[in-house]
Amino acid sequence: MDSDRNEVHLTTCPYCGVGCQFYLKETDARIVGIIPSEGRVNEGKLCIKGWAAHEFIHDPQRLTKPLIRGKDGKFEEASWEQALSYVADKLKEIKAKYGNDAIGILASAKCTNEENYLMQKFARVVIGTNNVDHCARLCHASTVAD
Ligand code: SF4
Repeated sequence: MDSDRNEVHLTTCPYCGVGCQFYLKETDARIVGIIPSEGRVNEGKLCIKGWAAHEFIHDPQRLTKPLIRGKDGKFEEASWEQALSYVADKLKEIKAKYGNDAIGILASAKCTNEENYLMQKFARVVIGTNNVDHCARLCHASTVAD
């Protein structure tokens, strides 16, 4: 591998459906910064999330495997199969105990239209609730706050 190698890679912001583009700055095989694209979508601008979109990549606290809280309250690593089974069992349990409307589904701007369509179908048909909302009201609120 070259040492002191500097490159930029054009990519699309993963955080919302606006789809701003930026260059990831790479130095020595590490992503170290962001340069906004001057393209038509964002014209050299990014919101605060876009400016920080690279920071999780090498963060030592980044979660790379599912975690399930054990009986002692501590999180334990699990496989995706275990995690998904756990969530399915819990959803069934909540639905049986408290009813369909005790569950709400948050769709995501990071998903495609098709994935969000499936999400609302899952809510309405599988769970039986109209409690469907979107992450724009939750996570994106921070990007428009003064
Ligand atoms: S999160 Fe911000 S930078 Fe990223 S696509 Fe959306 S508006 Fe653009």
